[in-house]
Amino acid sequence: MRTAIEHADDPRVLEVTVDLGRLEGMWARLFSRRQEQQDEHTRAVTAAWRAMVDRDAVAMAVTAVRERAGLAEARRPLGDLAAEALAAARALLRALADHTGWTALRTAVRNALAVGRAEGAVNAVAIAAERLGPHAVQLEWDIAFQHAYRSLERLDELWAEADTWLARMLDGTASDLGRALAGAAEDGASREEMIDSAMDILVSDDAAAVAFTVDWAMTTAADDGALALYQSEGVQRVDVITAGDGRVCEACASYEAGSPWSSLDVPRLPTHPTCRCVYAADVSLSHFAAWLI
Ligand SMILES: [Zn+2]
Repeated sequence: MRTAIEHADDPRVLEVTVDLGRLEGMWARLFSRRQEQQDEHTRAVTAAWRAMVDRDAVAMAVTAVRERAGLAEARRPLGDLAAEALAAARALLRALADHTGWTALRTAVRNALAVGRAEGAVNAVAIAAERLGPHAVQLEWDIAFQHAYRSLERLDELWAEADTWLARMLDGTASDLGRALAGAAEDGASREEMIDSAMDILVSDDAAAVAFTVDWAMTTAADDGALALYQSEGVQRVDVITAGDGRVCEACASYEAGSPWSSLDVPRLPTHPTCRCVYAADVSLSHFAAWLI
C-alpha cells in the first residue's frame, strides 16, 4: 500500500486535485458525509464483532497453540510456531463464524455496503450537478440518499459482497492474532497472558482489521454505486479525480491523467485501501428531479 503520507518526499507522489485538507462547498459536504457514515458503520460492525468474540473459544485456541508449541507438556520440540499459531488463529475465527452473533455481524457489514453504495450514487449526482456550475442546481442530499438506499433493498449481491469482505476481515484478524500468539509463546508467556493478548487483538479499540476492512469496503461500495448509476444512465465517459491530504500515489495520479475513460474500461477505484479518489461524469439530471431543489 502506498499512501501520500508515507511517500511525502517521493517525487512520483503527485499533488491531488481534491485536497482533503482544504475542502469547500460540495466537496466538503461529500467527504464529511462519507466520513460520518464510515465512523457510524465502523462502530456498528465493531460492536457486532465484539459481541461475537467468546473468551472460552479464545482460551481453547490458546491451549491448542501451547500444546503444539510444546509449552504445555514440554515433550515436543518447537516446530514452526508461526504456522501453528496462524492455524490455531484461523480455527478460532472459523469457530466464531459458527457463533450465533455471525448473522448480526453479516447484517452490519451488508448495511455498511448498502450505505456506501447509496452514497456513491448520491455523490455521482452531486458531482454531475457541480459540473454544471457551483450554483446551477442544489442537491437535497438526505432525500437523495433515502431514495438511493431504498432502491438497494432487494439487491442480493450485497450479501455476497458482505461475505467477501468478512472473509478478508477474518484473514486480516487471523494474521494479527497468529503473530501475537506465536510471539507470546516464544516469550514464554503464561496461558492467561496469552489469552489476554489474544483478546486485545480481537476486541480492543484498535481491533485494526475490522476498522480497516469497513473503510475499504465502504469506499469500494461508494465507487461501485457511482459506476452503477453511470451504467443505468448510459454515461459513456468517466473521469477519475484524485483526492488526498495534499498528495496522491502514482497509480491514482496516472488514472486521473488518463481521463476521460470509456465507461467500459475505466480503472476500478479504490486503487488501494484508504484511497479517497472519486469518479466524476456528466449525468443528465432529468431522472433525478426528485433529488434536486
Ligand atoms: Zn487514490
